Amino acid sequence: MTQAITDQADQVIAATYERFPIVIERGQGCTLWDTTGKSYLDFVAGIAVCNLGHAHPRIAQAIADQAQRLCHVSNLYYTIPQIELASLLVEKSFADRVFFSNSGAEANESAIKLARKYFQDQGQNDRFQIIAMEQSFHGRTMAALSATGQAKIKKGFSPVLEGFEFVPFNDVSALEAAITSSTAAVLLEPIQGEGGIRCPMPDYLMRVRRLCDERDILLIFDEVQTGIGRTGKLFAHEHYGVQPDIMTLAKALANGLPIGAMLAREEVARSFGPGSHATTFGGSPLVSTAAVQVLKIIEEEKLLSYCFQTGAYFKEQLLWLQKRHTQIRDVRGEGLLLGMKLNSDVGNLVNLCLTKGFLVNGIQDSILRFVPPLIIGNEEIDALISTLDTIL
Ligand SMILES: *Cc1c(COP(=O)(O)O)cnc(C)c1O
Repeated sequence: MTQAITDQADQVIAATYERFPIVIERGQGCTLWDTTGKSYLDFVAGIAVCNLGHAHPRIAQAIADQAQRLCHVSNLYYTIPQIELASLLVEKSFADRVFFSNSGAEANESAIKLARKYFQDQGQNDRFQIIAMEQSFHGRTMAALSATGQAKIKKGFSPVLEGFEFVPFNDVSALEAAITSSTAAVLLEPIQGEGGIRCPMPDYLMRVRRLCDERDILLIFDEVQTGIGRTGKLFAHEHYGVQPDIMTLAKALANGLPIGAMLAREEVARSFGPGSHATTFGGSPLVSTAAVQVLKIIEEEKLLSYCFQTGAYFKEQLLWLQKRHTQIRDVRGEGLLLGMKLNSDVGNLVNLCLTKGFLVNGIQDSILRFVPPLIIGNEEIDALISTLDTIL
């Protein structure tokens, strides 16, 4: 039966993903069930999206209630959930204003557009260049992929957009050397996600901030993956005592409903006036309602400190595994954004985990990425660790 479903899928769905041969039907907390009734512990969470787990009762109820009142009207009109969500984001961040969209790529598109417009509004039309990082990932739309520092993402889509330069992550001197009179912004993920869970050196972000201040350059943090509690802080940059001028969010903001957000300081945000940028769906009442619940639940259930503790426990267990298995080269990450680098391809390991009822994610060929719901428990972590121990 599974075979019949996947055969049909493979005929009618664009083949952009090489999918695992299971059909997932429902979820509850950190557990998923496929159409054969087999269960899986979910250490992927829809790639750092379902931070509060699957079918969260309060979020499900809020979505159901809102769906019966109003799903969408257009941003020509005010709606309460969008105002409530923007207010919460402003209250909890460095930012003064929020522009809502539907995805991480779109949030980054709007950040790139805002950075250019900020300088063009001041008559500095030649300040259009964005310096981004090697190994970065900012999404698949044309500008977002142009800003992405991985050749494999751009392959076949040339010419990509002009105005993007790349320097190695964690290298302040290279960044300084790349700055020219046309530099508008520096764009980076505080912790590189898709690029392999690469963390900044302790003073790196601080030094980048200082450099941007000295040269009057905007600093954009892409917190699409690191945001909304994933690292044990609401936004990862809080670990490093540094604030950006613009920040993008998406993945976990509405726990699985499609959303993107671009947050900015007033002085910068002002450059988006009526007609300068727009979206049909962004910030709809339905999606915003879910996101409001996400932010409230994270606070009420003290999930940031919980994630911090659970992440520390998980990392300790991975380090224990590393001591036992020489093929593990590195364990890294912050909170529940963890990576384990092996000295060979992890494809087979991921498949074996799946067979044993664990969803884990392989990236950059040799790295396992663990991004479970933030509500994961130590027993569930123990179960994965002992399975990995057995497989290795
Ligand atoms: C996933 C991701 C994106 C792209 O988000 P989409 O919603 O897939 O467009 C952008 N930046 C980072 C850091 C991401 O992890």
